[in-house]
Amino acid sequence: MPWSQIYSEFLAWCHIAGSVAPWIGSFIYHLFMNTERGSLYYHRLLKLDMVGIWVSQSFGALPMVCASVFCLGRPLQWLLILCYCVFAISGLCKAMVASSPWKRRLCFTLPFLMRNLLCILRYSSYGGGSPQAMGSVILQVIQDLVSVIGGAIGAMNIPEKWFPGCLDMYLNSHNIMHVLVVLAVYFMHQATILDLVWMASGVCGPDRHQIQHPTSHMQEEL
Ligand SMILES: [Zn+2]
Repeated sequence: MPWSQIYSEFLAWCHIAGSVAPWIGSFIYHLFMNTERGSLYYHRLLKLDMVGIWVSQSFGALPMVCASVFCLGRPLQWLLILCYCVFAISGLCKAMVASSPWKRRLCFTLPFLMRNLLCILRYSSYGGGSPQAMGSVILQVIQDLVSVIGGAIGAMNIPEKWFPGCLDMYLNSHNIMHVLVVLAVYFMHQATILDLVWMASGVCGPDRHQIQHPTSHMQEEL
């Protein structure tokens, strides 16, 4: 983290929490899922896994949300950020009581749609965010979409249902989904650092395309 150049330490910590939470949740879930303690124990582990994903999609996305609305008027900024928080919290509440894998995945639809709309806002003249991060943000949205597809193939057990017994160790749908999530978080990390540095510059409008970022300096030095 380029701590000396970033806009807000709170947002930086949100990003760090969002980047590590899915690994902690999934790691604990997968490590203990095979113990024979009954369904209640298993469902508690599953909830922990869900909370990890939720922290990643809510706190982890907060710097991107704040950067996207950065150039709007204060009341509108807070309204949109509040909207995202409400969508994220209601998604968590629904995910905690969801009865099937499909329902659990659908709980994250609203925050996901809002992130996509914010991405469109970034491309308009009203939007904010580092212009350099836009490529990464688009990639992250694509990865987001791929994660949704990953979730869908997981719920449908594709491709392991076509090759019974052959993909138990690797290349099954859950395995593929986790690899896609690694990619998504990697792109989120790249885009978030650029956004945090851009917000510190505070330049909105057409001028924001002229800002030099620490990574471009680094590339020049290299
Ligand atoms: Zn998993």
